[in-house]
Amino acid sequence: MTHPAQPKASHFINGAYVEDTAGTPIPVIYAATGEQIATVYAATPAIVEQALSTAKEAQKAWAKMTGTERGRILRRAADIMRERNHDLSVLETYDTGKPLQETLVADATSGADALEYFGGLAASLTGEHIPLGEDWVYTKREALGLCVGIGAWNYPTQIACWKGAPALACGNSMVFKPSETTPLCALKVAEILIEAGAPAGVFNVVQGMGEVGGALVTDPRVDKVSLTGSVPTGKKVYAAAAAGMKHVTMELGGKSPLIIFDDADIDNAVGGAINGNFYSSGQVCSNGTRVFVQKGIKEKFLARLAERTGNAIIGDPMDEATSFGPMVTENQMNIVLGYIEKGKEEGARLICGGNRADKDGYFIEPTVFADVTDDMTIAREEIFGPVMSVLDFDTEEEVVARANDTEFGLSAGVFTKDFTRAHRVIGNLEAGSCFINSYNDAPVEAPFGGVKASGVGRENSKEAIKHFSQVKSVYVRMGDVEAAF
Ligand code: NDP
Repeated sequence: MTHPAQPKASHFINGAYVEDTAGTPIPVIYAATGEQIATVYAATPAIVEQALSTAKEAQKAWAKMTGTERGRILRRAADIMRERNHDLSVLETYDTGKPLQETLVADATSGADALEYFGGLAASLTGEHIPLGEDWVYTKREALGLCVGIGAWNYPTQIACWKGAPALACGNSMVFKPSETTPLCALKVAEILIEAGAPAGVFNVVQGMGEVGGALVTDPRVDKVSLTGSVPTGKKVYAAAAAGMKHVTMELGGKSPLIIFDDADIDNAVGGAINGNFYSSGQVCSNGTRVFVQKGIKEKFLARLAERTGNAIIGDPMDEATSFGPMVTENQMNIVLGYIEKGKEEGARLICGGNRADKDGYFIEPTVFADVTDDMTIAREEIFGPVMSVLDFDTEEEVVARANDTEFGLSAGVFTKDFTRAHRVIGNLEAGSCFINSYNDAPVEAPFGGVKASGVGRENSKEAIKHFSQVKSVYVRMGDVEAAF
């Protein structure tokens, strides 16, 4: 019997599912059991061509609709996503392995927020009038044209919506390529947009590995590329986009600092560290994986952290009581286990976890290392798994310098009751998305993105509009034209 997660076909182009079994088969593995639940096929050059030409054509009429009309469609899509939240969450769990307890509140709901928010903004995208005596200039905010979205595997529904919603609100069309690891959810987003009234061809999904992404990024018809992925992929895609002078948004990796001063509320700080390291089994780009704890509260913090981490319910992600799921793939599990071994070898003190969990599927215990030093591999490289490094510090000046000593700059957090210090420290940290007495909140109203190697551009909020549109300025002369001859 076909598994319920098996999509009707691999791609969604011009308003309908499309199949081409000549492409490389991509097995979809359920991370909690290791069983194959679906198969899709990588896009062939013919499929890529179909998606790009359709999206190019559909964009013209879409951009000519009023913002109110475009917005209404996006808001309708948001309503449909919310109505189907349960089914979409189950699919997200099959796609990623993340527990239903999370997917019910963080995926389709976050996608719906983006559709609703950008749907609401679509009608307000106006230019300005600049008086120049008798003459004047007016500006228009115009679509960029055809946009390509490329997603990572940790939030397949959310990433498709965070890219698709602002792109479409501005009058662009999109061809979206999910990660080959999680190809299922973006197809549902495409289906729902059509059901909500989006014209065929405005949002298309094609499957494939990096080479399909590469073909999309280098096509001369493409005006913008928005990637969520790792820093090495980001560098390649940015360079390829630059060769065609295309706009880019790069949402890349991180090794973010979470700084806990000794006046912090310990339970809130432990909660922030848990959210910032173990949600989605640590597969979150903005995670605060370098937890700097001031020496005075270090042992108290570690004891409470170990106690609360012991309460994680590791198991069947479809059971709503489960609070901790598997790694997305066997490969990712092995990468993370490799980092855990490195941590042990390099002399970090293992506080809890540190092993593969004794289950089918790709489960790793939530792991905490203490006495981590700045030069250890686990403190320098993005692990993208449930491995928290606790480092200790004495002074504010010292911790800010150490926190900034990294190529990354996605997020940063600080826990303290001293608000003057909180704002001063955040002001001195090199990061794009920051938190005070909290960690990893990502509401659609707030800009999201990194500095340094962690990215270019911002997603969400009004900032995303700037990255999916451009300004045309028009000089209007009321009198005669003066010329030298
Ligand atoms: P990858 O960088 O491996 O892949 C990202 C996407 O790019 C995938 O769809 C991939 O295809 C595609 N791709 C790979 N090579 C190319 C290429 N040459 N041209 C075009 N596309 C290409 O990232 P992961 O999927 O492994 O995701 C994990 C990474 O994503 C982490 O580093 C994490 O920090 C980052 N991330 C960043 C977020 C942010 O907002 N800042 C959010 C979530 C994750 P395929 O995999 O199918 O081959």
